[in-house]
Amino acid sequence: MSIAEFRAELGDIPQEDNPRIVQQRSRDHYWYSPVLKAKLDQVTAEVVVSPRSTEEVKTVLRAAYKHGVAITPRGAGTGNYGQAMPLSGGAMLNLMNMNKVLEIKPDRVRAQAGAVLEAMDHETRAAVGGELRFHPSTYRMASLGGFIAGGSGGVGSVRWGGLRNLGSILGLKIVTCEAEPRELDLKGEDILKVAHAYGTNGIIVEAEMPLAPAYDWVDMIVGFDHFMDAAAFAQSVALQDGLLVKEVAPCAAPIPEAYFNRHKPYLKDGQSVVLLMVAPVSVDAMELFVSHHKGDLVYRGDQVSDEEKRRLPPVYELAWNHTTLRALKVDNSITYLQTRYPSIEHVRKIYEMLGDELPMHIEITRQDGEVTFAGLPLVRYTSEERLEEIIRIHEDNGCDVFNPHRYTLEEGGMKRTDRKQLEFKREADPKGILNPGKMIAWENPDFDFNAGKVWLFDGLNTVR
Ligand code: FAD
Repeated sequence: MSIAEFRAELGDIPQEDNPRIVQQRSRDHYWYSPVLKAKLDQVTAEVVVSPRSTEEVKTVLRAAYKHGVAITPRGAGTGNYGQAMPLSGGAMLNLMNMNKVLEIKPDRVRAQAGAVLEAMDHETRAAVGGELRFHPSTYRMASLGGFIAGGSGGVGSVRWGGLRNLGSILGLKIVTCEAEPRELDLKGEDILKVAHAYGTNGIIVEAEMPLAPAYDWVDMIVGFDHFMDAAAFAQSVALQDGLLVKEVAPCAAPIPEAYFNRHKPYLKDGQSVVLLMVAPVSVDAMELFVSHHKGDLVYRGDQVSDEEKRRLPPVYELAWNHTTLRALKVDNSITYLQTRYPSIEHVRKIYEMLGDELPMHIEITRQDGEVTFAGLPLVRYTSEERLEEIIRIHEDNGCDVFNPHRYTLEEGGMKRTDRKQLEFKREADPKGILNPGKMIAWENPDFDFNAGKVWLFDGLNTVR
């Protein structure tokens, strides 16, 4: 590979090679995991390239293919598993200059990959009174392309499910990495070849997303003396057909009092809470529902002054992986897991078994019509061995773990090869230079996911 020859072919496409800035742009939020932090700290690209149009993306990929330069796409770099980290060096492909909303219709929006999700909602709200159905809690920073390639769901998933559900992404325009890069429009089932593939088999340049009616969501926090009462209330809220909610997340004590610093004046020591975002039309009914469940409504966003509201983060920035972020700000030994509890009884069992070693945080989501418990529990980290044991305890008790301490697609996800994504990579990235090291199936189609071994990408050793 010749990075100098690659760079010489890029014309006036902006490039950055200041090693300090390049290293900064070569990172994501991998450091939430002590395991990944130890493995990936030294990883860096050699240059950051920032195309401004699809034509420029094609120019970059044409040159990368010709000179065999590894390309790692990057949006805002808020991913959590080293997804956007260049394990083989090479070039970071920064998509954030491609940030235009291209078309808004009453039920859908089309935008470039680098559009920031919150900015998209501003435009669609003004134009048609619509907003994205769901967004990650990194809404104010994350890009559309990064969410589709690296994310799964978020605020709104209690109503609309996740990105993998058919209908959650309407179309993608991608660019392939070949001698002559092609633009492909993916629709229907084909979208899943590239969605959540960490940019290993195509660069997303545009996406079309469905819209939901926009509301001035009201933040609410409800306290409970016992976590399982909070969890049961949260489940019931999501099952209520008449209560319109965008976010429902029970968090066990001591998470609120220990880590939700700016909301502290409203919180009561010892209480677990349920974080809620409620449509204005449902606020009164929700108050009633809270009283039926003997909850303690400690915060209502529509009853505080505008000045106070500006001081406080929105409730969604206490939820999803922001819960972990807030804990890490106070105690940097904390880490987390991503789990799925098949029923409230599974939640209870794990909560009782692991107690304060695993301060429980659940996101209530909808999956195939069922209300489900997606766990993002905090972990008081002691060692990698104990972390593995905690994962085993989950699995032995029938709970799924999507390991956030692995940088590969497969180990973090379903622990098996996604044949369609692999086949598409053969077609769209025949030299295997898009985000190398993230798709095990490409490097080692025979890797045995049941052998209990961790995948170690050889290319990590070649990084300077
Ligand atoms: P990046 O981190 O830049 O990239 C993510 C992945 O996509 C990488 O593999 C990258 O190589 C690839 N990629 C980026 N752009 C493209 C492109 N144009 N084409 C192809 N591949 C591309 N995730 C959720 O799903 N839900 C949440 O609620 C959530 N909450 C979070 C909270 C915190 C505090 C943090 C730190 C992370 C959270 N995440 C969450 C993870 C992450 O923020 C989201 O997935 C986010 O949408 C990623 O967007 P990004 O622009 O930062 O992508």
